[in-house]
Amino acid sequence: MEKVIEVQHLRKSFGSHEVLRDINFSVNKGEVVCIIGSSGSGKSTLLRCINLLEKPSGGQIIYNGENILDDNHDLHKYRAHLGMVFQQFNLFNNHNVMTNCVVGQVKVLKRSKEEAEQMALKYLKVVGMDQFVNAKPKQLSGGQKQRVAIARALSMNPDVMLFDEPTSALDPEMVGEVLKIMKELAGTGLTMLIVTHEMEFAREVSDRVVFMDNGVIAEEGRPEQIFNHPTQERTRAFLKRTL
Ligand code: ADP
Ligand code: MG
Repeated sequence: MEKVIEVQHLRKSFGSHEVLRDINFSVNKGEVVCIIGSSGSGKSTLLRCINLLEKPSGGQIIYNGENILDDNHDLHKYRAHLGMVFQQFNLFNNHNVMTNCVVGQVKVLKRSKEEAEQMALKYLKVVGMDQFVNAKPKQLSGGQKQRVAIARALSMNPDVMLFDEPTSALDPEMVGEVLKIMKELAGTGLTMLIVTHEMEFAREVSDRVVFMDNGVIAEEGRPEQIFNHPTQERTRAFLKRTL
């Protein structure tokens, strides 16, 4: 299987606090991988290291066969291949929906405005937000904002989409609409790495589930294995607390 991203011996410390300790895993092309684990276990830090919002303290991140942590690597180019969706949406509040989806394409990918708008419209349709191109984020519900954020990330045609608890900041009645879109995307063969507390969702869409505990990957496997037959006591304890 073709690996899109491979993480080898990744470490991250904040001062003397070691938050990630020797993380090894990879995401294959077309695969949907969910990361689960308690709050504070290092899930967000792992995603933020992968897209270089945090600088890893050690280890390697291999993308297209190259270690992107090598000094001479073009980080901006690498990052343009990753789509990121945050818990707090991170939309530009002073821009309307269309502009939110266009600026990155024009700035980073050097697309023309027209080309970028076409691409944005394509993905706004996918998430059911094409009627809202002129709306400002403050006029939208949380679920709508998150769907725009997903369309914005997809408009960059990333090789892999990273999601950090995309439904955690939403009112309960809006969680479903976002999970539904993500399920549909998972069905299209998009490569997705998703941090989530939505266990039913993880069970349903994942090809593989990664359970993190206290800065390490404690266990990973098919959802059926992790949820029904976990081999580690700490996985069992976590699932007992959350399910
Ligand atoms: P999770 O996403 O699994 O809840 P995080 O990756 O956010 O966990 O955090 C893991 C640990 O790293 C926590 O103890 C958190 O306090 C710490 N941490 C995260 N970011 C920073 C930071 N910028 N500075 C210091 N400590 C941090
Ligand atoms: Mg987190």
